[in-house]
Amino acid sequence: MAFELPELGYAYDALEPNIDARTMEIHHSKHHQGYTNNLNNAIAGTDLEGKSIEDILTNLDMSNAAVRNNGGGFYNHSLFWTVMNPEDRGYLSGELKDAIEAEFGSKEAFIDAFSKAAATQFGSGWAWLCVHKGGKVEVCSTPNQDNPLMPGVTCGGTPILGLDVWEHAYYLNYQNRRPDYIEAFFKVINWNEVERRYAAAK
Ligand code: MN
Repeated sequence: MAFELPELGYAYDALEPNIDARTMEIHHSKHHQGYTNNLNNAIAGTDLEGKSIEDILTNLDMSNAAVRNNGGGFYNHSLFWTVMNPEDRGYLSGELKDAIEAEFGSKEAFIDAFSKAAATQFGSGWAWLCVHKGGKVEVCSTPNQDNPLMPGVTCGGTPILGLDVWEHAYYLNYQNRRPDYIEAFFKVINWNEVERRYAAAK
């Protein structure tokens, strides 16, 4: 059973003006489709075929560049689409709010820490909010398509919020203004989904 490009769950223009429709369309239908196809090609006929993406990444041989890059790309974007939503976003609340305040002191301090991780990731990569077993949360960033599930990646735990800071994620609308894109991301976060992921992973 090959991996399939997941549906967005909303229209390409649904996140306007924060994330523009053209960027969303190219990002989903070209970039994410490309990672999906290349992942399927990379695992075809190997013992990775048929395993879940989480299983593949958690037990990854990091020297396997094709699976590292494309498996990461498949997983990261699949998460990314779900943690944004044009409506029914909810707000930071409940156990996740408690965990964030315990770690960072306040929601605002968390936003600062996450934004800094996203802004200072040199070149292409991702910023993450992760949860460890027991519920402790952590902010970090990873290069390229690496993610916290992979062995030996700086941050550990399960990613529950991710922001793509590759230029392909923002360049059409924001050009070199990555900080403006990061600020816009916080206007479209689907907190209901982040809380669901927190509860499932903690
Ligand atoms: Mn991307």
